[in-house]
Amino acid sequence: MTPLIDPFARPISYLRVSVTDRCDFRCTYCMAEHMQFLPKKDLLTLEELDRLCSTFIRLGVEKLRVTGGEPLVRRDILTFFRSIARHLETGALKELTLTTNGSQLAKVAADLAALGIRRINVSLDTLEAAKFAEITRWGRLPQVLEGIAAAKRAGLKVKINTVALKGFNEDELFPLLDWCAGEGHDLTFIEVMPMGEMGEEMRLDQYWALKDLRARLADRFTLTDLAERTGGPARYVRIEETGQKVGFITPLSHNFCESCNRVRVTCTGELFMCLGQEDNADLRAPLRASEGDELLEQAIRAAIARKPKGHDFDYSRQKVAGQMSRHMSHTGG
Ligand code: SAM
Ligand code: SF4
Repeated sequence: MTPLIDPFARPISYLRVSVTDRCDFRCTYCMAEHMQFLPKKDLLTLEELDRLCSTFIRLGVEKLRVTGGEPLVRRDILTFFRSIARHLETGALKELTLTTNGSQLAKVAADLAALGIRRINVSLDTLEAAKFAEITRWGRLPQVLEGIAAAKRAGLKVKINTVALKGFNEDELFPLLDWCAGEGHDLTFIEVMPMGEMGEEMRLDQYWALKDLRARLADRFTLTDLAERTGGPARYVRIEETGQKVGFITPLSHNFCESCNRVRVTCTGELFMCLGQEDNADLRAPLRASEGDELLEQAIRAAIARKPKGHDFDYSRQKVAGQMSRHMSHTGG
């Protein structure tokens, strides 16, 4: 089987799949409070998601990240995890993981760990209950902290993802860092991206460049750049004084597209070859057109053959260029 290689000689080894557009939170930078969700019939069924992911794995994908919306609010999602975990057992899949808001983790962390999941990403922008309720609108901090604690007890390695938001969590940089160090969690900061139809002005107001965040860290600590690469826009430093690893995801102020190894599939089966471009391929039609996977495989190969060189996000001229109308919950963060 010829593996998936794009026109810029980048092997595609990492798939992020969104299993739902729904969520039990309404984070202000991600969703409108009253979101119109997709009709259920448009979503891929769990069996279709399995066929799709298994086909990508057959074509060389070694890392699968399940996301959303909130992946753990999809009904029977554990059935999907249980089934797809068979590829971990055969060794075809090296890593199965998920990104979650943590609200349901207390219930399922032990099951996820038992299936062979080793590491998870949990999004957490603040450690203050009132601010948490403000930014997530519907989320409650104690529930998430309990979920994170359950994950740790189950032996899952937790990485905390924090969206850097100007005027919101700037004052929590060091408290978040200390909390993660104390709990043994890695911490990665994410620059807010121009997704969804929120006003351009608001987006620029929220934008806290990670260059500035890093400079604040460097004022207090000695930072050593790490060579570690995951094929994405994340870069890591070690804080010499504590040994802690901190990540920065800066798709806007830097562009690391040359080593991009990933593609994304939405919960309706649209394959996005780049998070920052509109071009996509419909995989639901070939999935539903036949029981075999040949049509699906052809559609995937044809799409990878037009994976673009990079994205066009740019805040540099004080306006949001390359803005995407899709919400992050649609493409899957
Ligand atoms: N619901 C899960 C969660 O919150 O982790 C998974 C999906 S969420 C869309 C994935 C990640 O995208 C989260 O860490 C979230 O903070 C981030 N995100 C959402 N909207 C964003 C935006 N406009 N810019 C940057 N990150 C965003
Ligand atoms: Fe839901 Fe995650 Fe979006 Fe927040 S960031 S609204 S938790 S999908």
